[in-house]
Amino acid sequence: MEIVRVPALTDNYIWIAHDATSGETAVIDPAEAQPVLDAAAARGWRITQIWNTHWHPDHTGGNAALKAATGARVTGPAAEAGRIPTLDRQVAGGDRVSLGSLNAKVMEVPAHTAGHIAYHLAGEAVLFVGDTLFAMGCGRLFEGNAGQMHANLQRLAALPPETRVFCAHEYTQSNGRFALTVEPDNAALRRRMEEVDAARAAGEATVPTTIALERETNPFMRAVSVEQFAERRHGKDVFRG
Ligand code: ZN
Ligand code: FE
Repeated sequence: MEIVRVPALTDNYIWIAHDATSGETAVIDPAEAQPVLDAAAARGWRITQIWNTHWHPDHTGGNAALKAATGARVTGPAAEAGRIPTLDRQVAGGDRVSLGSLNAKVMEVPAHTAGHIAYHLAGEAVLFVGDTLFAMGCGRLFEGNAGQMHANLQRLAALPPETRVFCAHEYTQSNGRFALTVEPDNAALRRRMEEVDAARAAGEATVPTTIALERETNPFMRAVSVEQFAERRHGKDVFRG
């Protein structure tokens, strides 16, 4: 499977996943349509599917135009079907979604939104996680609580460490600055932030990340209790830096 990153809006990443064997191509969380159509055309790929992780417009805004242009089939969370009117297939935790011969399992990760899902392709060690897990960060709790997000992150932390995590935003530098206030003596975190600062100064992206890296440096995944998680989440909500 080949995965291409398409920057969109201010700080979104749209991911395009291509299975060369079947020729199938899926777009994950299209914030907008045109940059996706351009990126696919440049590679000679025909978009056959759209996968949404949650209803927010910066993850679904391109659904209708992409569907109209390509006939792609749209898959997304059943719990948010009313807010994603372009859905063709509604899925819930444990459901399988296939891209050619590749299989994704749907994981329910509610908290950022009430019906947020992630797509885990175990055979590829790939996770499309939307706005649930970010590099050194996690999604804000708009429609859920700290207990839910803490549980989500513990489940994601238990995935194989080599799993590549495709987040939907470039929030890494700001997340890292906050993480350093939580764990100033974490050597892995300090090292990572040096790399992130260098990458951003050069205009480079810092995602995908990996489960292994997040286990070492992500203060939200590393929280040892719901209370500690909640304290850190609140701290980040009011953090300026
Ligand atoms: Zn969102
Ligand atoms: Fe988002």
